[in-house]
Amino acid sequence: MTKEEVKARFEMIDDLGRNIKYEKAEIRRLQLELKRAGVKYCPSCGRTKDDTEFGANRSRPDGLAGYCKECRAGKKALTKGAVSW
Ligand SMILES: [Zn+2]
Repeated sequence: MTKEEVKARFEMIDDLGRNIKYEKAEIRRLQLELKRAGVKYCPSCGRTKDDTEFGANRSRPDGLAGYCKECRAGKKALTKGAVSW
């Protein structure tokens, strides 16, 4: 699968997952495909973006922040540091 195909597939699965509890195994499999393709899913904005759109976080298994830079910047501005990531 190409990167774009994996991204499109994952976004579709995620939408289904929220509605009808799509198989977790399938979602995990696609997350691995995403990682191989160099992209990551952001649960905040619900989009898959390139790894470069995520900050580094060494405490996480994949070494990347859980949310994309854009969301983190937005949340920080809104909450003024009330929530620590
Ligand atoms: Zn995001």
